[in-house]
Amino acid sequence: MRVGIGFDLHRLGPNTPLVLGGVVIPHHLGLIGHSDGDVLCHAVTDALLGAAGIGNIGELFPDTDPQLKGASSLRFLEHSADLLRQHGYAIGNIDSNILAEKPKLLPYFATMARTMAKALSIGADRIQVKAKTMEGLGLVGTEQAIAAQAIATLIPLE
Ligand code: MG
Repeated sequence: MRVGIGFDLHRLGPNTPLVLGGVVIPHHLGLIGHSDGDVLCHAVTDALLGAAGIGNIGELFPDTDPQLKGASSLRFLEHSADLLRQHGYAIGNIDSNILAEKPKLLPYFATMARTMAKALSIGADRIQVKAKTMEGLGLVGTEQAIAAQAIATLIPLE
């Protein structure tokens, strides 16, 4: 079995949708990024790539690529899942945390897990999404940013 870890953080700003785990969440601020800024998908992508030892999100999906401007980060998951299969791995499970002061994300956990699982072509029971506030402290706590961390296991096929 192999294990990988992923982390990401994006700034919050106005006039852009908040997308987490591929789900648009009603909020007055969104995540600023070259893609849709989906920190959860980015952290999960890096955990998967790291577990397989096949690079990282910045190498595979550079933020200088005009084709990725405004792209749904679910594309990163789809592409990573294809790469994993090509390298002979199946996804064991993924666990994740979103670090966000607002909004309350609990009502969206199941939809995020289902949405990411679909992009990865795995069962939703293999992905867990959780969230924590930062008690008003730091960049996340003062609503300047949202971050995410993820861990993934891979099982060699055959
Ligand atoms: Mg990112």
